[in-house]
Amino acid sequence: MATAFYLSQKGIKLAVIERKYIASGSTGRCIGGIRQQFSTPTAIRLMKENVTLFSQMEEEFGFTVEFHQGGYLLLAHSLEMKEIFKSNIELQQKEGVNVSLLTPKEAKEVVPDLDIEGLLAAAFCADDAQAFPFPVLKGYKNKIEQNKGDFYLYNPVITFEKKKNFLLTLENSTVLEAEKVLLSAGPWTAELGKQVGLDLPLFPERHEAMITERIPKFFEPMVVDYRKDGCYFHQLISGQVIGCYTPVPNVPGIREDASFEFLPRLAKRMMRLVPCLGKAAILRHWAGCYTMTPDGNPIVDESGIENLYIASGMSGHGFMFGPAIGKHLANFMLTSKWDTDFAEFSINRAFEGKEALK
Ligand SMILES: Cc1cc2nc3c(=O)[nH]c(=O)nc-3n(C[C@H](O)[C@H](O)[C@H](O)COP(=O)(O)OP(=O)(O)OC[C@H]3O[C@@H](n4cnc5c(N)ncnc54)[C@H](O)[C@@H]3O)c2cc1C
Repeated sequence: MATAFYLSQKGIKLAVIERKYIASGSTGRCIGGIRQQFSTPTAIRLMKENVTLFSQMEEEFGFTVEFHQGGYLLLAHSLEMKEIFKSNIELQQKEGVNVSLLTPKEAKEVVPDLDIEGLLAAAFCADDAQAFPFPVLKGYKNKIEQNKGDFYLYNPVITFEKKKNFLLTLENSTVLEAEKVLLSAGPWTAELGKQVGLDLPLFPERHEAMITERIPKFFEPMVVDYRKDGCYFHQLISGQVIGCYTPVPNVPGIREDASFEFLPRLAKRMMRLVPCLGKAAILRHWAGCYTMTPDGNPIVDESGIENLYIASGMSGHGFMFGPAIGKHLANFMLTSKWDTDFAEFSINRAFEGKEALK
């Protein structure tokens, strides 16, 4: 959607094709976190740019996207994680991110209700943020329509072929011919890519989330507990607390079914950190996908087939990465040149390293 928005601003004739409704995939299921605390220069720079782009959306779209800079507080309960934080912070500070390593006592000043038992250190960036995915996508959709872009909703691509141009046959039998295609179908990207002979290293897995009723606002940042049985959660500006955990082992496949185990497990993990959350009633629980790559970084590149581009494998960060990826990718699709370094997201990379902060 972000790429389509930036392409439409250049007056390009385009269509967005969507299987169901806008936000029906992973984006409408995410919890809206936006952080700059990454472990590689490209990711950190892009996320700095994304904080700026999200902060401009209200003015650009004419309504709120609930952008709020409450920060991210990352918790280290092991020496190993503390060392990872230290080396990341060095790099992040070099890139101009307002981040620092806190003692447990300082972490408690940021979140007074935090139980700091076993905590060794915390990484805190007060400028990290949150936004609400639905108005973000609505804003892009309105703008794309104003710029004369077309939408085909509730209309999945059934067959995808490469002739001289690309031919996309939709469920309602419409056949669209396109000179260039961006394949950005979240967890379904690999399946569609297979139709034109691509073998993409994309591995969807299930992630669940839950939200509480509104309670008086009592903490600001996304709290991220990196223990194996950890979790991450923040309080929206509406007062609702929204959170997730990363299942170990992971639950592979395109899965949008919610499990019985999730709620009691997450509730216990959240209450271990912030015990008073036990008084909040849970409102809703759902599931969606992370589309993982072997190194935890997205693939944003031309696919190897001329004029077919990929933006997928967002590995749990696609909402926050979206705007800046869209901006640079739109330019790349028009000029065949990157206007910033995207080598980390190249389709031809070795996929050997690992983003340290998943
Ligand atoms: C529980 C949870 C929490 C998360 N929290 C965060 C977070 O805090 N911050 C963050 O940045 N990220 C988060 N993420 C990850 C984030 O949601 C994803 O990385 C991001 O939404 C991926 O966006 P996308 O556009 O690539 O995919 P999607 O949003 O899935 O969009 C792809 C679209 O393609 C459509 N499609 C698929 N097949 C076809 C077809 N054949 N024809 C037409 N259309 C098709 C789908 O319907 C879908 O709408 C979270 C994810 C989950 C599940």
